[in-house]
Amino acid sequence: MGIKVAKFGGSSVSDAIQLAKVKEIVEYDPDRRYIVVSAPGKRFSEDNKVTDLLYLCKAHIDHNVPYDQIFQVIYDRFVAIEYNLHIDVNLQQEFEVINQNLKAGASEDYIASRGEYLSAMITAAYLGYDFVDAAGLIQFDERGKFLNEETDKALGQELLKHEKAVIPGFYGTYPDGRTKTFSRGGSDITGSLVASAVKADVYENWTDVSGFLMADPRIVKDAKPISSISYKELRELSYMGASVLHEDAVYPVRAVGIPINIRNTNEPKDPGTTITAEATPKEDTIIAGIAGHKDFTVIGIYKSMMNDDSGFVRRLLGILDSYDVPLEHMPSGIDTISIVVSDKYLNGKLDDIVEEIQRTLQPETIDIFKKMALIATVGKGMAKRLGVSAKLFTALFEAGVNIRMIDQGSSEMNIIIGVENKDFETAIEAIYRVFVEN
Ligand code: ASP
Repeated sequence: MGIKVAKFGGSSVSDAIQLAKVKEIVEYDPDRRYIVVSAPGKRFSEDNKVTDLLYLCKAHIDHNVPYDQIFQVIYDRFVAIEYNLHIDVNLQQEFEVINQNLKAGASEDYIASRGEYLSAMITAAYLGYDFVDAAGLIQFDERGKFLNEETDKALGQELLKHEKAVIPGFYGTYPDGRTKTFSRGGSDITGSLVASAVKADVYENWTDVSGFLMADPRIVKDAKPISSISYKELRELSYMGASVLHEDAVYPVRAVGIPINIRNTNEPKDPGTTITAEATPKEDTIIAGIAGHKDFTVIGIYKSMMNDDSGFVRRLLGILDSYDVPLEHMPSGIDTISIVVSDKYLNGKLDDIVEEIQRTLQPETIDIFKKMALIATVGKGMAKRLGVSAKLFTALFEAGVNIRMIDQGSSEMNIIIGVENKDFETAIEAIYRVFVEN
């Protein structure tokens, strides 16, 4: 018998109907012994996530505004689930304790974590699994730094005492027992930590889509699912905006070689996407996927004999650093260098940065290109294959897209192009059609 860790996201545990699907999935395969859950998410698009309501509660308390109504909404959501599943986990008492802690000034992390805590209690009772709290097992140091080895050991020792268990996602504790959460979406990380600690055969991440698609379905309507992808390819795609899994969730399982399988709770027969160290691309697939972002600014710098000016790049990057603006890309030519920065970090700092570059580096020209988009075409299948860029650039030419920037790493796993924001969708569609359909 093997071990599978199954993590169910917010939409999979949003109400009793969804939890009935969870139960069916778990019971279908006896290897699914360790279950990690999020807090109940949205049931329909205008609905609220329980975690958001919990944060809202805390904000009310901090502003001395009554929070009873929101607290009641949260209580009602859990009670409805408990009632519809015909279980009894004594929610009233749990909520009294939470309320007392709130009145006593509990932290934001504590209140936010209660969604996962209660969700796990309910799921455990419904599945007939043990409830194992993450408090004391998922560990952080006094300064909030995650303690990997300590966590792995404690989780492994505790969980292996239980044949089958449900663990709340998203949080752990400081050494003094206070609650500390991961960043938003962090239950994915808990799932990965649990998988690593129990040496699972696979980490299943159940959500509301059937894995990763080769392109954003809002742009490419019929985008195909990715059946298998390597961690490295996934990292490139997620960095560029493809989001299904929390970025930090990859590391714990990757370190010990456990594959991740993204699955759809609403379509459990779909195989989803499998992420492994070495995904074997199908013979005919050149690319794994396409992803991108709008709203970058490119600062193009020209200085003749730039390569003779030692320390030029270091000083340039130092300027960005002093303004706390991270560098996204840096394509260069003989006497030119361009720095690509995301507008979200730039807010109002551009003029000062340009002025400082002018003053300290004295280039001949500085050109600013605003409203640029970056698009990454990713896939190990591109490496050492002739004609990939020719195909890509021809497709963009035929679609009437002007390529403003090109950046390809030596791994040949990723070609990044810069286009104007207005050409973003057209470019993605054109790349998809030429690689996936032809
Ligand atoms: N409930 C938390 C959030 O909404 C964590 C999670 O669902 O992974 O961010």
